[in-house]
Amino acid sequence: MTRLAQPPTTQAEVKPDLERVNHWIGGKRVAGTSGRKGPVYNPATGELAREVDFASVEEVDAAVKAATAAFPAWRATSLSRRTEILFRIRNLVDQHRADIAAFLTAEHGKVHTDAMGEVARGLENLEFATGVPHLLKGSFSEQVSGGIDVYQIRQPLGVAAGITPFNFPAMVPMWMFGNAIACGNTFVLKPSEKDPSASVYLGELLKEAGVPDGVFNVVHGDKVAVDAILEHPGIASVSFVGSTPVARHIYETGTRHGKRVQALGGAKNHMVVLPDADIDMAADAAVSAAYGSAGERCMAISVVVALGDVADPLVGAIEERLPKITIGPGHEESSEMGPLITREHRDKVASYLDSGVSQGATLRADGRQHVLFNESEGFFLGVSLLDNVTPEMECYRNEIFGPVLEVVRVPDYPSALELVNGNQYGNGTAIFTRDGGAARQYQFDAEVGMVGINVPIPVPVAYYSFGGWKASLFGDLHMYGPEGINFYTRSKVVTARWPDPGTSSVDLGFPRTR
Ligand code: NAD
Repeated sequence: MTRLAQPPTTQAEVKPDLERVNHWIGGKRVAGTSGRKGPVYNPATGELAREVDFASVEEVDAAVKAATAAFPAWRATSLSRRTEILFRIRNLVDQHRADIAAFLTAEHGKVHTDAMGEVARGLENLEFATGVPHLLKGSFSEQVSGGIDVYQIRQPLGVAAGITPFNFPAMVPMWMFGNAIACGNTFVLKPSEKDPSASVYLGELLKEAGVPDGVFNVVHGDKVAVDAILEHPGIASVSFVGSTPVARHIYETGTRHGKRVQALGGAKNHMVVLPDADIDMAADAAVSAAYGSAGERCMAISVVVALGDVADPLVGAIEERLPKITIGPGHEESSEMGPLITREHRDKVASYLDSGVSQGATLRADGRQHVLFNESEGFFLGVSLLDNVTPEMECYRNEIFGPVLEVVRVPDYPSALELVNGNQYGNGTAIFTRDGGAARQYQFDAEVGMVGINVPIPVPVAYYSFGGWKASLFGDLHMYGPEGINFYTRSKVVTARWPDPGTSSVDLGFPRTR
């Protein structure tokens, strides 16, 4: 099969003809009719690379109609056939890792190795979904009463929707649609309008794998498309990943319209470093987790909490590593960190440096001094380190979502815990120590959904589930893994008895088992 969306092989190939990114509805590309569109930039050059169609309410409705029409046959498709198709999806994504990664580098800007890591972590979720025959096994209780058995089965919801952020244009959709369609649902994806091509490419791979038309659909757009999803009576559930204000809106609006909603929000992830920690290991981890993907990861470390005497040597060790980080276009092999997603976002991130200093922080490394910040049209910002940050400062209170690492110095463990638990977010956190007892206590105390012990980015493997606490998640169930299977199915409990002549009688009492 000839796929229409061809991955760019060089940066130059991305731009010439301003290719239009269309919707993917009913198993084919569908050009937008709303007349609305958005820009897709090449963040490494700052150039407009493509344009993307923005869906109207009617176009969202067309995708929901395609998904609704496909649902009865898909849910009736045998588990073994669905599994076979999921294995084929898994294999095609595996074969095309580099192509998918090329879209990510071209439109998001992340460096190639990071993009390959994103695809690999998404793939894990597709592999998990291939186990769906086992995951959907129900339970059976024989002889709960004379001649009566009770069993529970899990059935799909119908049309499930996913709304995803710019920072993982392939992985986060894979967190959602693998489990959703494995469970027998059909799916409508609204990816980020900033880097939309990977999702259409995935649609083409799914078709090639044998996914029937209408089972997987993509509509692009902005708030108009999102609100059309939230209000559409034909959509049963919404999975969202993005910033906290939008997550709250999604949760409130979606549930008000009777939908099952899981809405994952923003983050401010603290790495607590105890005085007994291995300084080199902690500094390596802090630098990798703060500046990888230019800090545009919801599990990035954005705050180092340095306890007591560890602060000076730790900050020194972090500072010493910063000049060695190579910043450049994502497709260049030497680049370790690429540009940010847009110029506006880059400038907003940079504004927290002056704001931090004006409120008393010490700027130990200033990303605005990097040559690419000053001389490139790309959306580059070098790495920045703000020391002596305190919880009242704007730079601490907000999610910066860029290559800025903050250091908060605290005297002891209770102060560190108070800081972490007092933060509005609770996505991820890490503790660095050689003391198993201290680490265990932190795991017990931290009001955070995902905890790393000497591991800075504790993104759970696909057979656990991903989710934060507090303002990092609205809803009851975490994403992917076993909780994902629960999210995409509803339980049905059957109480059954078969005719046994001579045993029935009229009895108006409430059914009892004894
Ligand atoms: P975003 O909230 O701006 O956008 C996410 C999605 O919502 C996009 O598809 C976008 O088109 C849509 N959207 C944006 N504004 C909207 C509005 N006003 N009404 C309706 N829909 C709207 O997030 P982003 O900038 O794309 O991604 C970065 C954010 O996502 C960060 O806050 C990051 O922490 C968060 N994030 C969280 C997780 C997690 O698992 N908790 C994972 C990745 C990213």
